[in-house]
Amino acid sequence: MPIDVTQPYDDDNIFAKILRGDIPSVKIYENEWAYAFPDINPQAKLHVLVIPKGRYVSWDDFSAKAADEEIAGFIRAVGIVARMHDLAGPGYRLLANVGPDGGQEVPHLHVHLFGQQPLGPMISR
Ligand code: AMP
Repeated sequence: MPIDVTQPYDDDNIFAKILRGDIPSVKIYENEWAYAFPDINPQAKLHVLVIPKGRYVSWDDFSAKAADEEIAGFIRAVGIVARMHDLAGPGYRLLANVGPDGGQEVPHLHVHLFGQQPLGPMISR
């Protein structure tokens, strides 16, 4: 179900629970600002979610309100996760769904990282 990302941050969302350790996840990478773990319902051979540790509902919220060091730490984490999987050469895809048109389902910013296979058209038709 798409969610209303104009609402305030909900501390009970599933990724907040993962960050607190209330729900289990497999850590792929972590730095001061970001946490990366496998998507529970992978859409590609490699499907990792990278989330900021801060309380940001969406890319919109994060890009408007996060401190520069949080943004840098998060973006660097995404790049590190890709390099951990040797994806710089073969390439990969990053996706951040935002709001109803984007199909965002979890109200905590997350970037999907897909790879280890050709990924086809950018948007399904
Ligand atoms: P989005 O539609 O962009 O909001 O994506 C939400 C993603 O979160 C989906 O790809 C789900 O498979 C994934 N997801 C939901 N719950 C979990 C969980 N407990 N652990 C890992 N991934 C999850």
